[in-house]
Amino acid sequence: MNRTVVHDSALVLFSGGQDSATCLAWALERYSRVETLGFDYGQRHRIELSCRVGFREQLRARFPLWRERLGEDHLLDLGVLGAISDTAMTRDIAIETNASGLPNTFVPGRNLMFLTFAAAIAYRRGLQVIVGGMCETDFSGYPDCRDDTIKALQVALNLGMDSRFALETPLMWIDKAATWTLAETLGGADLLDMVREQTHTCYLGERGELHDWGHGCGVCPACQLRRRGYQAYRAGLTVAQLLQDEAQAEAQNEADAASDGAP
Ligand code: ZN
Repeated sequence: MNRTVVHDSALVLFSGGQDSATCLAWALERYSRVETLGFDYGQRHRIELSCRVGFREQLRARFPLWRERLGEDHLLDLGVLGAISDTAMTRDIAIETNASGLPNTFVPGRNLMFLTFAAAIAYRRGLQVIVGGMCETDFSGYPDCRDDTIKALQVALNLGMDSRFALETPLMWIDKAATWTLAETLGGADLLDMVREQTHTCYLGERGELHDWGHGCGVCPACQLRRRGYQAYRAGLTVAQLLQDEAQAEAQNEADAASDGAP
């Protein structure tokens, strides 16, 4: 009896952001049939939803092998998530850190709901792998991005649907600099440009000016993460090394300013 499980099809959680766009390319490189899933949950940065369409079109236009593999797109209305969440991701309030130490951009239950709906669609479509851009190393501290959460959910979903889904999170242990490197490795300068110009990250939904790291306000936590990741990638550093260098330079500046002011 052949017990080998062949994973040749995947459903990618594709929001239109940098991480999920990179995950989509990762999946297209590995699986012969790939479908995408996005969610409209009343997010302030709904503009990311229109980026999804353009990004998929560009993938088809520029990568012939991936064009053959890229299948249907699914967009689910999860307005109920916005209705029950009181967060800076779904309300027009300032982004800050809660008493619990979590940023108020954390939408409780979001990834649990996303992955549960993804499994329901994968079940119907006969897709074996569910791919998400969750990452434990990007400093946001969202508990539903942690590896243990995803592993526990994989067990729960497989028990609850009597299935054998594999939840894959290719970005789990890499930082934002390595995410840019991964995009380059997968699709060269073409894909890197597409991720830079056509994906959306900014929490405030600002598109406007194109910076070297992409569009966005440049100051919200999501933009800062994206910008630092790009800077570190360009400099051949990890994000942690870049932050360390910045802190050292700042300390040096303060020391210089203090000695200038000395009599
Ligand atoms: Zn921003």
